[in-house]
Amino acid sequence: MTLKKITIAIDGHSSTGKSTMAKTLARRIGYAYVDTGAMYRAVTLFALRNKLIKRGKVDEPALKEHLKRGDIAITFRPTKEGKSVTVLNGKNVERYIRSMRVSNVVSIIAAIGFVRKAMVKQQQAMGKDKGLVMDGRDIGTVVFPDAEMKVFATASAEVRAQRRYDELRAKGDTTTTFEEVLANVTERDRIDSTRKESPLRQADDAVVLDNSHMTLEEQDEWLYNLYLDRAKN
Ligand code: C5P
Repeated sequence: MTLKKITIAIDGHSSTGKSTMAKTLARRIGYAYVDTGAMYRAVTLFALRNKLIKRGKVDEPALKEHLKRGDIAITFRPTKEGKSVTVLNGKNVERYIRSMRVSNVVSIIAAIGFVRKAMVKQQQAMGKDKGLVMDGRDIGTVVFPDAEMKVFATASAEVRAQRRYDELRAKGDTTTTFEEVLANVTERDRIDSTRKESPLRQADDAVVLDNSHMTLEEQDEWLYNLYLDRAKN
């Protein structure tokens, strides 16, 4: 069987394990992987560090100016362990962008039209030669509407919050409660789905993956089989 190079778009709700599944699939089939959520998180970290967010309000003109001037350079760097880390202006910011401080306001930053425009442009450039797996909220609808494979991942809010909670605990966060994580997951879904700019929605040609009751192995096989189907000539 000959396989053609395709574009794989994985969208869905917060904390559905999109990056884990996207990363695993990309490694298995030798594709590049891009975590677009990390890009919005990096812009958010920049905004927080430069005091551009005050009481939930963003200083949009200032942020726009920084973006225009090229002050917010986001790249990905492979590590020795075969992982990829997010780099903001030359510094590894992986640890900081996953914090609750960033999670609590990232959806506000991601709802701003000029931020999305700048990120989408970079994402389209990264994927121009196909052969990549990209995960986010608008990949199959806006970034790559012609992607050959589109997945829409979902799971119950409780299952998703539990996974994120376990992850925070494993990383040493002992203060955030399960209720706080659940509230954050639900609130991000609400903002992402109701925003004016590219709201989170399932593309008409996307396949739904509800992984509430799936093991990682089952999920990986499901994705791999879908890939084989879409990539075969
Ligand atoms: O995927 P992750 O949960 O890390 O994304 C963080 C936030 O970035 C999301 O809650 C969403 O608001 C935003 N996002 C987006 N479009 C994308 C990826 C992420 O709006 N393509």
